[in-house]
Amino acid sequence: RDPHGLRAVTVLGATGSIGTSTLDVIARHPERYRVHALTAHRSRESLLRRCREHHPEVAVLDREQDAAWLRSRLADEGLATEVRFGAAALVEVAEASDVDVVMAAIVGAAGLLPTLAAVRAGKRVLLANKEALVMSGALFMDAVARHGATLLPIDSEHNAIYQCLPVEHRGGLSRHGVTQLLLTASGGPFRGWTPERLATVTPDQACAHPNWSMGRKISVDSATLMNKGLELVEACWLFDARPEQVQVVVHPQSVIHSMAAYSDGSVIAQLGNPDMRTPIAYGLAWPERIDAGVEALDLFRVAHLDFEAPDETAFPCLRLAREAMAAGGTAPAILNAANEVAVDAFLTGRLGFTAIGDLVAHTCDALPVERADELGTVLEADARARRTAASLLGDD
Ligand code: NAD
Ligand code: MG
Repeated sequence: RDPHGLRAVTVLGATGSIGTSTLDVIARHPERYRVHALTAHRSRESLLRRCREHHPEVAVLDREQDAAWLRSRLADEGLATEVRFGAAALVEVAEASDVDVVMAAIVGAAGLLPTLAAVRAGKRVLLANKEALVMSGALFMDAVARHGATLLPIDSEHNAIYQCLPVEHRGGLSRHGVTQLLLTASGGPFRGWTPERLATVTPDQACAHPNWSMGRKISVDSATLMNKGLELVEACWLFDARPEQVQVVVHPQSVIHSMAAYSDGSVIAQLGNPDMRTPIAYGLAWPERIDAGVEALDLFRVAHLDFEAPDETAFPCLRLAREAMAAGGTAPAILNAANEVAVDAFLTGRLGFTAIGDLVAHTCDALPVERADELGTVLEADARARRTAASLLGDD
């Protein structure tokens, strides 16, 4: 424990959209939090700026050459941050004994091992990295229970549902009178578009989200509705729900962040401006509430709340994710890996927008589903799905 009572925070993925918002909230509360470690993949300049501002004890980059560059820049400026590199260093800063809180904000499967390390070390884990949970749901939730970790969802929808549920919601939703989780979706930038028009979408169009400013991978996922599919899987694991208990509701204003419906007819919703600092501040301070720097919601300016059903014909990824969850085992890990390959190919101009769903579907069809109660099996399914997707792409 810190002598001044400060909670020590590691931010995995500190240079990304969620990492940046997290550091913004932390900087508002120097009396509560100190930064233990900041990590980034390749963006060393941006990690250097964050080191200057937040003085972490440790900074982590992927490659040795970038670590050497950062080390010498920090030394020039007389900053004491220690620099490490590689996958093992990510795990170290996630499980270090003097860390209280780990923000898991790496994008994609790359975040699984450090996030799981934080869980196994019994930390308070703020989960933004939904892919980690989608891949390994059963063993991830089992590790949370076994190691006494505190798992707080940061994905805005899941954070909203968490706020709408009774404090103790384990053991199945129906036990607590919850009949359905209503997962809201903005519908993405191409809501209402025909498949013909969708085929022409470019990466820059897909990354210009109407309501949220996010990293490029999740922006594409929001545009294909795969993000909502991953979130459906995420909701099933976090809240012990069956896929049919999660209803996706398109709500273009993104003011209601999600809802829980109860057996007596009550529907409880969480509302707010679309700003990730709200769920981040909730996760950091829970069960207390702190200032997040977010403007108060002005309902007169919002004026209308609209709802419609998702179009699963134009956006098949939502259905693919629901099917993967129902299939169980390694199916969600296969879906996730195929999607990561497809999104990367789309962003680098090698795959059309509507072909993302096709590549995911073909990869899922090509591979057997296995039990997913061991990490090795999950990682193997992930690797095999990446190879299969790459060969379907003609990349191998
Ligand atoms: P981003 O692309 O902006 O940032 C990703 C961060 O992870 C960066 O710091 C990057 O350096 C690091 N990173 C990337 N690849 C890595 C690798 N292979 N190894 C180690 N580090 C790596 O992404 P983001 O939008 O901040 O999203 C982060 C996670 O949070 C994603 O899982 C996303 O689905 C989830 N999320 C984001 C939002 C949002 O509003 N941005 C909302 C809900 C959930
Ligand atoms: Mg979300």
